[in-house]
Amino acid sequence: MSDPRTIIEALQNCRTVLISVHKSPDGDALGSQIALMLALEKMNKTVTCHNLDPVPQIYRFLPHQARITSGPNVAGRFDAMIVLDSDPPRTGLFAGDYPASTLINIDHHITNPRVWRLEASASATGEMIYRLVQQAGLPIDREMALCLYTSIFTDTGSFRYSNTSPECMRISAALLEAGADPWLVTENVYESNSYNRLKLLGTVLGNMERSPDHRMAWVVVTDDLFQKTGTTSEDTDNFVNYVRSVSGVEVAILFRQTAPKQYKISLRSKGRVDLSSLAQALGGGGHKNAAGSTLDGTLEDIRIKVLGEVAKVIQSQMGN
Ligand code: AMP
Ligand code: MN
Ligand code: MN
Repeated sequence: MSDPRTIIEALQNCRTVLISVHKSPDGDALGSQIALMLALEKMNKTVTCHNLDPVPQIYRFLPHQARITSGPNVAGRFDAMIVLDSDPPRTGLFAGDYPASTLINIDHHITNPRVWRLEASASATGEMIYRLVQQAGLPIDREMALCLYTSIFTDTGSFRYSNTSPECMRISAALLEAGADPWLVTENVYESNSYNRLKLLGTVLGNMERSPDHRMAWVVVTDDLFQKTGTTSEDTDNFVNYVRSVSGVEVAILFRQTAPKQYKISLRSKGRVDLSSLAQALGGGGHKNAAGSTLDGTLEDIRIKVLGEVAKVIQSQMGN
């Protein structure tokens, strides 16, 4: 369990702080990152925000997002590095050699090794940042409220997933009171699909497949398809949820090509199958109902392996 006080004490002795989040950053990662940056600046820290991947278009409405730099390298050393919403390796930065004397990890993924600061019961990392900021006695201004509301709103699937808790609703209410504009978030995140993204979705869903017992369904997005439709990986955000939404499907899988012989898999469960251990066994991680990993190999090999493993997990946890 993380104790916000320990983190605040550690930060009080630091002057320069680097904040990074996982590759392919999402709303929770970015909202948490910016809100924490603003809080630390109120504590007179010099803050650098840097991630491997750029901010996706749909999150460019977040205040100060333009200050987040991206790319494989960051120059200089820092008194502290804070990794949010993932374990440090999944930042894809520094290959384990972090440029800071203190490494702090704030995350809510159950598969995160417990040597780092973790709180798996939080709906979103943004919820943990909210508590941290409260504990530090700092006010939540309108910009921080918008960022943290975005974190919780996106990671709970708009307050629909099982991680939607009384606590996250109470915090969200406080964030709305502090001035977060809910429609601004909804419009940017869910009502700003590019034309090409929906064309890609049409093609991808047109090729959806399912197992003979209908409990497993999957889709594939290849580099070739990205090229043909003029889209990129960030356009596949949430695709796997359409696959899970099929009646009878217990586990949905998205295979997305990330290199000629490499695929990112996204796994989603309706709740009767726990996917976190399987994702971890496949070299990734995540939550019970949403997990992922990146695998090396040809699509055929990866598909056979993953579908076989998922079928086994469904069988062992649900029976025939
Ligand atoms: P995604 O399918 O990328 O949306 O991820 C689903 C959930 O699993 C998210 O909470 C991710 O943070 C987590 N996740 C995805 N890929 C990995 C990975 N390689 N390692 C650890 N967690 C992951
Ligand atoms: Mn995330
Ligand atoms: Mn998260």
